[in-house]
Amino acid sequence: MRAYLPDYELQVPPNLGEALQQMTAEPGVWKPFAGGTDLMVLLEAGKLEHRHYLSILHLPELRGIEATEDQVTLGALTTYTEIQADVILRREFPLLCEAASLTGGVAIQNRGTLGGNIANASPAADSLPALLVYEAELELVSTRGSHLVSYREFHTGYKTTIMRQDELIKSIRLPRTTNGWHQHSRKVGTRKAQAISKVCFAGMANMEDDVIREIRLAFGSVAPVPVRASKTEATLKNRKIDVETIKYSRAALAAELMPIDDMRSTADYRLRVAANILEEFLRRFIIVR
Ligand SMILES: Cc1cc2nc3c(=O)[nH]c(=O)nc-3n(C[C@H](O)[C@H](O)[C@H](O)COP(=O)(O)OP(=O)(O)OC[C@H]3O[C@@H](n4cnc5c(N)ncnc54)[C@H](O)[C@@H]3O)c2cc1C
Repeated sequence: MRAYLPDYELQVPPNLGEALQQMTAEPGVWKPFAGGTDLMVLLEAGKLEHRHYLSILHLPELRGIEATEDQVTLGALTTYTEIQADVILRREFPLLCEAASLTGGVAIQNRGTLGGNIANASPAADSLPALLVYEAELELVSTRGSHLVSYREFHTGYKTTIMRQDELIKSIRLPRTTNGWHQHSRKVGTRKAQAISKVCFAGMANMEDDVIREIRLAFGSVAPVPVRASKTEATLKNRKIDVETIKYSRAALAAELMPIDDMRSTADYRLRVAANILEEFLRRFIIVR
């Protein structure tokens, strides 16, 4: 059943300060509305429970991509189209650009924001594994000021996060420390785009010939939250990549991930696909002599 529109209220605060004040004055009453690409689906389906929204899409403090020597900062309102168009992101953070290019179609990429993808906290969201391997930080802002949190600590359970009711995501920061790392991503769904992922992956490895000096592996859709496979990463560190290591890594991953069965896929299928993707990534480094 479709929603009854007069039940809903959308206000447009003139600036960030007033938006935050309104969220502080009535905690939990006002929720942010950015591109609306997640919220409008719920509205259309008559499943949008929350009634009062603040439009934030016009706020300049939450916009723009800026680079310093040490990091790239993306305003929370950065769209998928803007991500794909940015030269530094394309060169240094290709996993985020690939995820952006496979998120929805052009209309969604023009409208949907990275901050919305993070706050919506779907375990199947495509950008989130990239943020995990890039060791992103989030800047959260409220009338109490702003503070940085490691993105890795943001999700606390299925669709729950550490963000308080009076806070907004202001920006996403990516440290520029991954020069020379090999990077690989994968989205497995019913189709390549316009489909919710059954498994999505972002991986990076710092290699010395065929020995792994450091590796970061992140998966979406295999747990209630997007996850780093940190135990598998630890067991792969300083190992030479050969057929034995690949076999061993598949077993380590199977012991670490805990996918669920749902309407899109089974746990068994997800586990097998995740192991296949890891193998695909590692096989790129086997040196044929
Ligand atoms: C047809 C279609 C296809 C899609 N395909 C994909 C896909 O392939 N992959 C994928 O990952 N997603 C996909 N999505 C989901 C959606 O487009 C993304 O999650 C998008 O990034 C959401 O951003 P938004 O700005 O539209 O969020 P909104 O809908 O405006 O908000 C989503 C949630 O985030 C909160 N929020 C938004 N901004 C902030 C902020 N700055 N601070 C705090 N909270 C905030 C809102 O209150 C709300 O709870 C698709 C959606 C549609 C409709």
